[in-house]
Amino acid sequence: MSQKIQAIRGMNDILPQQTPYWHQLEAILRQLMAAYGYNEIRMPIVEKTSLFKRAVGEVTDIVEKEMYTFDDRNGDSLSLRPEGTASCVRAGIEHGLLYNQEQRLWYMGPMFRHERPQKGRYRQFHQLGVETFGLATADIDAELILMTARLWKAVGIEDTVRLELNSLGSNEARAEYRDALIAYLTPIKDQLDEDNQRRLSTNPLRILDSKNPEVQKLVADAPKLNDYLDQESKEHFARLCQILDANHIEYEVNSKLVRGLDYYNRTVFEWITDKLGAQGTICAGGRYDGLTEQLGGHATTASGFAMGIERIVALMEELSPLEMTDADVYLVALGDAAEINAIQLAEILRDEMPYIRVRSNCGGGNFKKQFKRADKSGATLALVLGEQEVTDKTVGVKFLREHKEQLMISQAQLCEKIAEFL
Ligand code: ATP
Ligand code: MG
Repeated sequence: MSQKIQAIRGMNDILPQQTPYWHQLEAILRQLMAAYGYNEIRMPIVEKTSLFKRAVGEVTDIVEKEMYTFDDRNGDSLSLRPEGTASCVRAGIEHGLLYNQEQRLWYMGPMFRHERPQKGRYRQFHQLGVETFGLATADIDAELILMTARLWKAVGIEDTVRLELNSLGSNEARAEYRDALIAYLTPIKDQLDEDNQRRLSTNPLRILDSKNPEVQKLVADAPKLNDYLDQESKEHFARLCQILDANHIEYEVNSKLVRGLDYYNRTVFEWITDKLGAQGTICAGGRYDGLTEQLGGHATTASGFAMGIERIVALMEELSPLEMTDADVYLVALGDAAEINAIQLAEILRDEMPYIRVRSNCGGGNFKKQFKRADKSGATLALVLGEQEVTDKTVGVKFLREHKEQLMISQAQLCEKIAEFL
């Protein structure tokens, strides 16, 4: 036997036992997006490396150490997308969707980050991304949050998630705060871990977000971002809170909430669960009014979020497990003529009742073996055909999940009867 080739670490196969959760979530998401009047956009999964450097930021974890970057055959540096916002803005500028317009967009698909794989953290993972453009006021931030809150209910995980909110203020306010934070942390720099010492000169706000308990203790007494907010940002945030209150959305204001990507301003938010260990953020977003201009477009206000699909699927598997079956109806047939007749009936069922799942027995076998397979498929009904049924144009109906006598029905009445029994 030759050596087995295995998948790349952190890049998962999504197996048949899991895909029903994905289907359910994806279907709910599509419906949800339509319900709020959002349109889908699809971008390539590979972009020029410079796009992510400029959008996400040179000194973010993502660009510094997590990107899958390679030279293509022309020598251009390309990267697998680590997130979707940069591509979405790039596409919006390129196709003239943003300037002087309002857009409400969404996309769903794989993202790639070279992280240390662990539960809830993978190298290929999937996100739903929602991005809005040309809407500057807090009502759109609130809409994004209401939309996510509705989703948690639809997938049955609303009791295990909580919302954290913060405002990062204007760029100027943040710059002023940044200086204050540096001034506070520099004298105690030695007590920071290596990563955060580096961040002090590159991306100091990220230190607030550190998971290291020692660092958390140090920043507990640091200056607060809230104290540096500009008046307009304060009003924007107050309005957001007011809309959320009016819609009974609970939240906690976390003054240490910053985001790992450079482009955010004003509103930032995260939905967090305690059920997934350290990987508890299932959805994160906020406002990024400066990004379009940063990527060469006209200034356009923007607000959006990204949601980790694997983490939501993990919650669904735990909290609202699906009953898995392969079919609703299983056709059992013995003998050449019966096999052909069974296939014909299966096709008729699929013509007339495309919403039910019909599995034909393939590969022969005696009745016992076929019923075993029928049972294993999880089907509610087995349809049974032998020589006699073919001659009489009838079919046997066996109830696989309840104690009920087997019936004989005429083939002409098949669909009508199946609809009644399912
Ligand atoms: P984290 O703090 O978990 O590293 P992040 O700030 O890097 O998250 P974002 O870039 O905001 O995450 O991505 C939005 C969401 O995508 C996250 O909240 C999470 O649910 C999901 N996500 C991010 N990275 C991964 C990953 N490597 N594997 C699985 N899901 C991920
Ligand atoms: Mg990360």
